[in-house]
Amino acid sequence: MSSGRIAVAGAGLGALSAAERLRERGWTGEIVIVGDEPRRPYNRTPLSKQLLAGTRQPAELRLAAHRDVDATWVLGTSAVALDPHQRSLHLGDGRRLDFDGLVIATGTTPRRPGGIPFGRRVHTVRTLDDARALDAALGRARHVVVVGGGFIGCEVACAARDRALTVSLIEPREALLTGPLGPTVAATVTEQHAKAGVRLHLGTTVTRWEETGRGLRLHLSDGTVLKADAAVVAVGTEPRTDWLQASGVQLADGVSCDPTCHVIGPDGRALDGIVAAGDAATWPNLRFDAVPRRVEHWINAIEMGQHAADSLLAGPTAAAPFTPVPRFWSHQHGLRIQSAGMPALGTATVPLTGAPKSGRYVLGYTRPDQHGTEILVGAVALDAPRALIAYRDQIGLPLARRRAA
Ligand SMILES: Cc1cc2nc3c(=O)[nH]c(=O)nc-3n(C[C@H](O)[C@H](O)[C@H](O)COP(=O)(O)OP(=O)(O)OC[C@H]3O[C@@H](n4cnc5c(N)ncnc54)[C@H](O)[C@@H]3O)c2cc1C
Repeated sequence: MSSGRIAVAGAGLGALSAAERLRERGWTGEIVIVGDEPRRPYNRTPLSKQLLAGTRQPAELRLAAHRDVDATWVLGTSAVALDPHQRSLHLGDGRRLDFDGLVIATGTTPRRPGGIPFGRRVHTVRTLDDARALDAALGRARHVVVVGGGFIGCEVACAARDRALTVSLIEPREALLTGPLGPTVAATVTEQHAKAGVRLHLGTTVTRWEETGRGLRLHLSDGTVLKADAAVVAVGTEPRTDWLQASGVQLADGVSCDPTCHVIGPDGRALDGIVAAGDAATWPNLRFDAVPRRVEHWINAIEMGQHAADSLLAGPTAAAPFTPVPRFWSHQHGLRIQSAGMPALGTATVPLTGAPKSGRYVLGYTRPDQHGTEILVGAVALDAPRALIAYRDQIGLPLARRRAA
C-alpha cells in the first residue's frame, strides 16, 4: 500500500500507536481514527490506581504521540459495521467510510454478569468516565466491596484503603491473582492485602445482590451478608467485537488474526488490508505456540499497534510474525509486581533470583516442549524490577540453555 486512506476503528492506545508507526514508516495518505469515547487516547492504567487514590488528575492522563500523526479524528462516534470486501466502515452517525487499509483496535469492556444492580452504587472501571463515577462513589462511601481478585480488583482495593475506607474483597479462588500468576506469587500478594487491612473473603462468591435506599447488601456463598455503600465488579473483560458480528471476519474471544496481525476472513485466509491490535485482537504468538490468545497489557497495545501498522503496509505475504514477550506491571500496597512472558502457561515454577520467603524474588514459569525440555514461558518479579530484565530475553528458550547463557 502506498497511498489512499487508512481507517482506524477505536481511538485508544493501540490505535494511536498504529497511527504513529504509519507516519514513521512514511505513510503520507489519509489516516482517519474513529472512537466512540468523546476524547483522544488517554492512559487507562491510572484509572484503577492513582486517579482513585487522588495522586493523579484526569488532565494528566492524555497520551501524546511522539510525532504528529496528522489524523482526522472522528470522536464520539462508533464503528457499527464492517464490509471487508467493499472495504468500508459504517459509522453510528450514518456515514460510510471507505478505506484502503483498516486497523481494528476497539479494546474490551468489563464483563457485567446478570443480577447485579449496576448504577450509582455498583461500578466497573474501563473509561475515564467510569473512574470519575467510581471516585465520586468512593467519596460518599465508608465501606466498599470489591468483587474479583484480579489486577483491577486488587488495585481498586489498594486505592480504597489509601482513602481509609473499609474494603472487603470477594474472590472465588483461595488467593488473589492465582489465575495469572500462580499460587506462589498469589500467596505473597494475598498476604500483602491482608496486612494492609483488606477484609478478604476468599473461596466465596456473591449469590445475591440487594440494593436498598440506604446501600447494598451482598449475600455470599458462605452465608455471610456484607453491607456496603458502594461496590466495584472486576470479573474480567469481553472484547469489543459486537460491531463485527455481521462482517464475516472470524471472531473467537476477540478478532482472530494470523501471526502477522492480519485479520482472518470468512474463508479462513488473512485479509489483505485489514489488521488488528491491542486488547481486542487474538493471535498466535509463535514464541510460545500456535494457540491464538488475547493479551491485555499496556505495552502489548503499543507493540502490537506498531507491528500491525508494519504488517498492513507490507501485506500478508511479506509481513513478519508478531512474537513479543508480553510485559506488564502492577503496584499493590507498595509491592511492585512485574511480569514478562505468559506465566499462566507454566506448569511448574523455579526460583530465579531470591527466595519467595523473602518477599523479594523473581520466579520463573516453565512448561515442557514436545521433547520434554523445560521452556521458560514467564518470569514474575516481586520488588525486584531490575532482576527481571536479565530474564526477559530468555522467555521462549529452554531453561537449561538459559542457565548456560
Ligand atoms: C483500569 C485499568 C487499569 C489498567 N492497568 C494496567 C497496568 O497497570 N498495566 C498494564 O500493562 N495494563 C493495564 N491496563 C490495560 C491497558 O490499559 C490496555 O491493555 C490498553 O488500554 C489496551 O489498549 P487498546 O487500544 O487495545 O484498547 P482501549 O484502550 O480500550 O481502546 C479502545 C478504544 O476503542 C473504543 N471503541 C470500542 N468499540 C468501538 C467502536 N465500535 N467504534 C469506535 N470506537 C470503539 C473504546 O471505547 C476505546 O476508547 C489497564 C486497563 C484498565 C481498564
